[in-house]
Amino acid sequence: MHKNYEFFDADTLSIIQNSISEITDFTFSVYDNNGVLLIPAKGEDKLTTQIRSYIREEFDKFVHEGIKKAILRKDPFFHKGPFNEFHLFISASVNTTKFIFLSNAFYTTKSEFKELLIKDGGRIGISPSYPEPWLEAVKIKDLSEVQKIASHIKTLFETFLKCVYEKNINYKNYRWAKTLIDVAFSIQMPATEDEVYSLTVDAILFLFNTDTASIMVKEKNIFRTVLSSGRQRKLLMSASLEDYDNIISRLIEVSKPLYVDDVVKIQRFGLPENITSLHIFPLSHNKITYGLLVIYNSVISPNESKTIMGFCKLISLILKNLYLQNAFGQCVDNIEVLNIAVSKLTSQLHNPEALHEAILDIATNLFKAEKGSLMLPENNTLIIKAVKGINKWLVQDVRVKIGERIAGKVFKDGSPLFSNEIEKLGLPHIRPGYHYKTGSFMSVPIKFGSETIGVINVADRTTGEEFTEKDLTLINHFATYASIALKISNYYNLMEQMKELSITDPLTGLFNRRFLKERFIEEIHRSERYDSIFSLAIFDIDDFKLFNDTEGHLAGDSVLKDLASIARRCIRINDILSRFGGEEFAVLMPQTNKEEAFLVAERIRKSIKEYSMHKWKKFPHPSITVSTGIASFPINGRTIDELIEHADIALYKAKSLGKDRTVIYST
Ligand code: GH3
Ligand code: MG
Ligand code: MG
Repeated sequence: MHKNYEFFDADTLSIIQNSISEITDFTFSVYDNNGVLLIPAKGEDKLTTQIRSYIREEFDKFVHEGIKKAILRKDPFFHKGPFNEFHLFISASVNTTKFIFLSNAFYTTKSEFKELLIKDGGRIGISPSYPEPWLEAVKIKDLSEVQKIASHIKTLFETFLKCVYEKNINYKNYRWAKTLIDVAFSIQMPATEDEVYSLTVDAILFLFNTDTASIMVKEKNIFRTVLSSGRQRKLLMSASLEDYDNIISRLIEVSKPLYVDDVVKIQRFGLPENITSLHIFPLSHNKITYGLLVIYNSVISPNESKTIMGFCKLISLILKNLYLQNAFGQCVDNIEVLNIAVSKLTSQLHNPEALHEAILDIATNLFKAEKGSLMLPENNTLIIKAVKGINKWLVQDVRVKIGERIAGKVFKDGSPLFSNEIEKLGLPHIRPGYHYKTGSFMSVPIKFGSETIGVINVADRTTGEEFTEKDLTLINHFATYASIALKISNYYNLMEQMKELSITDPLTGLFNRRFLKERFIEEIHRSERYDSIFSLAIFDIDDFKLFNDTEGHLAGDSVLKDLASIARRCIRINDILSRFGGEEFAVLMPQTNKEEAFLVAERIRKSIKEYSMHKWKKFPHPSITVSTGIASFPINGRTIDELIEHADIALYKAKSLGKDRTVIYST
């Protein structure tokens, strides 16, 4: 049967035909709208058979003309046939399908029929001399009655047809839907986009018997074919759709299919000439597009179109799921990358130059960029602290004013710029610096809270690709880590500087060695100027390693503190007592000769020896003792180094003589 009649098989039609005959006292043959007899009347009346077989041509002509008229007219009508008999013509349609029902022959009066038979019966093979059996069988109807019931019969036909159609269409819908859902769920995750595309296209080709189907994916403002299957796949593989007048974008918005068979429109889409029609189905979810399913040169009923659209929605969900999974995987990868980055950065916190190099190194490696730079502010300009891909010496003097060029603007505004945006800005003074030879780059601020503390620039992918929004997100995350590392590094630096600036030793509260040296220099200058003298005593705790080993380091620390305060009490107001090293102390004694210095040193030594006798658990000696070496300016030396060296030699001598004593340097 023709496609239009696919929902009505012969059995179904004869059931309808019979049921109507039973109710109405008419029999009907069923014709299609081309006048082709689909089902002859069951138990057709003898008279019609007789007419049909004896004057066939005339009868066929009559039927044919009647059907033509029936197609044009909606209401049922009766018509006189070639033997002056009446037939009822009823057209009944459901959806786009039309059937014509032709009734049996009837007359309005028996006498009229009798006259006909007597006059002309031979024409249809009936003997005029014996008309009785025919007169008994003939159907006599009142025309106005027939007219009345005809419209009821038409309603009955249409109701029956509609029931059958709906039952079948529902069944077909159900079958399609079931198959398509099965297809969709047969996709094993993790699948690739290509697997999903190819399954979609195959299902459409197979179930809907379409000519060619393609999947197209958006690239900038154009939809490009990524997969094509069917008769014209070769031609259509290279086809693309231009979204002119935003037709497709609007389609995606409303998530509805579009049918186009207008040659001009097809041309404007930029499709090849032999495309005469296309159905576009957006693969989208919540206005996000994953592509298009396009079916070319195929007839698709509204019902089929609805089913395909539903399938596309299902496929979109699967694609969405797929992208989410990929994005999640990407996030996990990014977290790993950032974790590695953090560990690299934290190992360089004490060395600013190495940290700058590490930041740039990670940034350029992360994005496979050939070039890059790290810029930090100094006196209202940005200077390059680390550079990759350009000779370091070339850019060492580059200064970028805050607010100027790309980096300056990024620093000032605190928001990133990347190549794709530069054209949009269209600012004449925003031009890439000479170290950006290509348009592909990212420039991002290193922000610590709301404060911008630097700029990272990366440019020129080794792969030649553009940087994407995703890259921008990742580099922004990295910049946050970099900002923390830079801040911590700054604090370390500051701490070092503070240490440098401090003059006291935190454990003992004594002056530190650095301060001693400063005072030492001053003392040398002063003594030289006034031609005066001064002495230096260095004392070292005896067997202090043993003390630490037996009593513990903490006890050692507290001894150091105690000795410092004992010594402080033994010196004079102008003497400078300092912690010289671990367990070594130095006393700088202005205007003091070696004999006087010896007395001070001895006073210290004796006071210490009296301290906490017999207090120790394991330390074998009854008390802590110290050995001291003394050197004097100018007789034992005129420079710091000489004086320290000679005091040390004297100290060594005190140790070698048995410790717990003071020795004045002598040659
Ligand atoms: P000697 O009599 O020859 O000086 O012997 P020693 O054990 O004192 O000499 P050495 O130089 O071998 O050891 C010095 C020890 O002083 C080593 C170290 O454990 C200890 N020391 C240095 N600085 C500190 C400190 O700040 N706290 C503590 N508890 N011990 C320290
Ligand atoms: Mg020592
Ligand atoms: Mg010692």
